Amino acid sequence: MNNVYGINLIPDNDTERIAALERYQIFNSHREKAFDSICELACELFSCPISHISFLNADTEFIKAEVGLNGLQYVSRSVGFCSVAILQPELLLVEDTHKHELFVNHPYVTDKLRIRFYAGAPIITPDGYIIGTMCLIDTEPRSLAEKEKKLLKKLADVAMEQTQLRLDNLSLLQQRDEFIAIASHEMRTPVTALKAAIQVLHTHQDGPVGLQKAMVEQANRSVKKLTYLVNDLFDTSRLAARKYNLEKTFFDLGELISNCCDFVKVSGKHELDIEGDLSVQIFADKEKIEQVLVNLVENAIKYAPDSPVILIRIHQLTDVVRIYVTDRGPGIGPNQLPHIFKRYFRSENGAPQAGLGLGLYICAEIVKQHGGEIGVESEQGIGSTFWFTIPVAA
Ligand code: ADP
Repeated sequence: MNNVYGINLIPDNDTERIAALERYQIFNSHREKAFDSICELACELFSCPISHISFLNADTEFIKAEVGLNGLQYVSRSVGFCSVAILQPELLLVEDTHKHELFVNHPYVTDKLRIRFYAGAPIITPDGYIIGTMCLIDTEPRSLAEKEKKLLKKLADVAMEQTQLRLDNLSLLQQRDEFIAIASHEMRTPVTALKAAIQVLHTHQDGPVGLQKAMVEQANRSVKKLTYLVNDLFDTSRLAARKYNLEKTFFDLGELISNCCDFVKVSGKHELDIEGDLSVQIFADKEKIEQVLVNLVENAIKYAPDSPVILIRIHQLTDVVRIYVTDRGPGIGPNQLPHIFKRYFRSENGAPQAGLGLGLYICAEIVKQHGGEIGVESEQGIGSTFWFTIPVAA
């Protein structure tokens, strides 16, 4: 349909504006109670027969929610009132369409809808793009007091907040689905290996000792992997429910490190170097600090398998002790570093031993609960140093 206004309806930033609208994934979405309720509220508050919330893309006005428009969903951009309202960040107020040069000959004024009054408050994203409008329509001319104008703008803000909440909700659901897919995939691998080992042991009960030993080892590895996965899941749900009680005691950090990291030597592939003041005492939850250390060292083994040496360094500062775990592995890309401690984050070049992307998140939560800090420095091709601090005193 031709532009009925005879003015340019396309703002300079229309491409960016449409990109901003697309981010919210709201165009063409189903009707939703929360948006309908805003329109119902608007009609009540302003004693107005028609109210709607619209979003505008390149060529169409999509009516997300409405009262009094009989389920109307789409209007062409060249005709909709919303197309004019989005041209400026202020409220578009047309007190009487018959006296307004842009609207006096508009088909919705002269024909079926017989609109006399229109007020459209722009729906503006936090980064300043006008993606839609919150509108009032009446078949009688009317005016709005200053207070009412503010109220309508406030309703437009509420519509924006609802649009944001809706998106947050969508991405949480998406994250949950992705996580379930990853978790079941990660669990299936050791379960399959375990089943296979048990089957071989069952059918070769009198088989060669070597085969039996290999199968028992495979079963052990699978059970170990499953235990890690289940523990990570359990820790994460306890963290989310804030059910982590720290049981703090004074203990020797050096002793803890040499005891808990013995498994590195057993693996035989890596050497563990421990440097710094081994006699330092800290006041913390011993088991949890051990969990953090073991996790960082295990990560070095998993993600830096060709690094011959893993270095643990203890550095005592005035109020805190800082512990570094360094490997000479592949390192972490600069675009991944900011996300590394986030829940469920796993790099794309995942190692075969990769977990659920929960290990570092759990470490960070434990360190934070102790009032410490956690961080990483890494260079691709050179290696990574993970560090954390724990306050020394009670
Ligand atoms: P997971 O529990 O799955 O092992 P983490 O939260 O411990 O996950 O680690 C998240 C991601 O960080 C891993 O997928 C891995 O890519 C990366 N990462 C962790 N430690 C190292 C390391 N020492 N070297 C290289 N990448 C690492």
